[in-house]
This record gives sequence, C-alpha cells and structure tokens, in this order.
Amino acid sequence: MEISGNTFKFPLRVPRLNFSYSGIVPLQVQKFSSRISAKMVTTVVDLRSDTVTKPTEAMRAAMASAEVDDDILGFDPTAFRFETEMAKIMGKEAALFVPSGTMGNLISVLVHCEVRGSENNADGTMDVAMIEAAIRSPANDFHYPTTRLICLENTHANCGGRCISVEYTDTVGEIAKKHGLKLHIDGARIFNASVALGVPVHRLVQAADSVSVCMSKGLGAPVGSVIVGSKSFIAKARRLRKTLGGGMRQVGILCAAAFIALKDNVGRLEDDHRKAKILADGLSQIEGLKVDATSVETNIVFFYIAEGSNIIAETLSNVLKEHGVLLLPESSASLRIVLHHQISDGDVEYTLSCIQQAVLQLQAEKNGT
Ligand SMILES: *Cc1c(COP(=O)(O)O)cnc(C)c1O
Repeated sequence: MEISGNTFKFPLRVPRLNFSYSGIVPLQVQKFSSRISAKMVTTVVDLRSDTVTKPTEAMRAAMASAEVDDDILGFDPTAFRFETEMAKIMGKEAALFVPSGTMGNLISVLVHCEVRGSENNADGTMDVAMIEAAIRSPANDFHYPTTRLICLENTHANCGGRCISVEYTDTVGEIAKKHGLKLHIDGARIFNASVALGVPVHRLVQAADSVSVCMSKGLGAPVGSVIVGSKSFIAKARRLRKTLGGGMRQVGILCAAAFIALKDNVGRLEDDHRKAKILADGLSQIEGLKVDATSVETNIVFFYIAEGSNIIAETLSNVLKEHGVLLLPESSASLRIVLHHQISDGDVEYTLSCIQQAVLQLQAEKNGT
C-alpha cells in the first residue's frame, strides 16, 4: 500500500507475486500457493463474463443527468433517442429497449410465432440442407407443428464466440423467405461479430426480420438489451414487453448508459479480441493445457485440460481465485475466459502468469513433489 498525500492508494492489482511470465515455460514454481499473499488480494481480474463490467464515469454521468418520463404512459425521451439511434445503426425501422437478452429473444419469438405450437429450428451454422429438411408444413402432415421461425446466434457463445458470416446469414435468410418463415438473430454479441468480420452491423443483419442485442455484454452498459425490426414488429413487441412485466417507467436512466455504451465501446471491441488472441496464444504454450487459438475470433476463449494432466478445472479455477483471477469452469476439463474493456494488457499478462504457475503447482501436487 502506498500513501500519497493524505489518501491511501491500494495496489491496483494483486500484490506483486515473485514470478514473472516468461511467455513460454516457467522456470519453477515459486511460492505460488502462499496463502498469505492470497489474503492480500484486493482487486480481481474478472474474466468470468463480459457482463461483469461496471458502468464507466461517462455512463454514470449520463444516467445522473438523463431527461426522463414515463415510458408506458407516454414515452421516455432518452429511451426514444436511444431506440431511434439503435434502429438506424442496425438498419431496421424501429427498436425497443428491454430488460434482458432473454426477454428480447422471448418477445421476438412470441411476435413471430403467433400460432400456438409453432417451432423454431437451428442455431449456429447448421447445414442449410438440414434447416430446409427440418421445416414442417401443415400441408404435408398436420400432426406436426408448423415452422414459423429460424433463429441464428451471432456470435455463437457456446462455440467460443465464433462469428457467423454475412454470406451464411444471407443464405439462411433466403431459405426463410422461400418458405415464408421469419429469421431472428440472437445478436447478444452482434457488434463483436461485426467488428471481427469487418462487416457493418446493418449489413450483417440485413436478412433478419428481428435482432436482439445485449447492451450489457461487451458494450458494458449496466442493464438491458434492445430488439430491432419492422415498425409493426416493434409495436407488437412493445405490447408483449408490458404483458411480460418488462415495461419500465423512467427507463431513460438505463438507456442513457446504453447510449454511452453504444457511442464509446463499439470501437473498443477490437481491443478485447486482440487480448483474447494473446491469451489464447499464451495458453497454447502452457504444457498441460489445450486451446485452439485459431478458433478464437472474438472475446471468448475456451481452453481445456490436456488428457493425462490430472487437473480438474474447478480446482484450477479455485487456485486462480486465490490470486484474484476469476474465470468459469465449463466442465471438469474445460474453462471459459471472456474479455471486456475493463481488462488491461497487464491483466492479461498477469492472468497468463497465474495460470501457468497454477498448472505447475497442481501438477507438482499430483506428482507428490
Ligand atoms: C447473454 C445472452 C443472452 C441472454 O441475455 P441476458 O441479458 O443475460 O438475459 C441470450 N443470448 C446470448 C447469445 C447471450 O450471450
């Protein structure tokens, strides 16, 4: 701890541990398991998700001064301004701010599938022939529900933040049109895909009838998602939002922060992707871990415990937690890291160093050395 003037300054990160990241192979395990230093951890490198970001100063200032009104009785001017801008950027007629991505997707599906018993197909890059084969029509056999909607997810979270290309999206859009279906994109991280692919976001979602976008993931807003689509889609969505309990009164407080997220943070996503690649490359050099660095396209990195390493993902995560590095075990042999704008280059370096030391420590413990 430093004392400057009359203010106490806590170390920005975990107190310096006595090892450094060499980039390839560590020299030896040096007191990594010291529980004393663990107790001194003050700040964490939180890589569990891109939802953990705290509102920036600019966001808090915008929230404090936001002009607001009752968005259900009439309309909230800040929400209106945000929704108008969002519709423009996404190349759609209208937009609606919703409390969460889950509600955004649910509303979209409910608007598109008015018919009871309808079914949605496909996620990720399914073979387009499989999509067509899965489409069901009551004209053929009325025992089955009628297909109304195709959903895509871009980027695809469980596939490690992989991007779905504009060509694939257009192809699925054409199939949807041919069969009289709607296309919804769960675009929780669509801006990550747009940035990584170098395709403007409105072009990327051109074939979609609706898109749901999370403002509270990599873009860093504290709360909220937005759905975009045609005017009639959004009019129905607005009614459903209220039905589902998602109507919010002075919602401009939240939209003010979302607006700042949109203005300030889209341009920063590229930096998250760069750091994800550095992490993936570093992890791929750690003996005992496996990562397909070439599959890291955006801000998510999945990595695996190599067979025979005898390390359990949760144990690794617990050791890292003691050193202020938080990440999520996905299974007993895999873990997930998600980058966001509050992770610095120093944090990335520190994380790699900690993981390297933790793996060595756990291997040494297993071997009884
Ligand atoms: C996070 C996420 C959601 C859900 O968003 P919430 O705001 O957490 O409800 C939906 N789809 C994808 C792909 C997501 O990553």
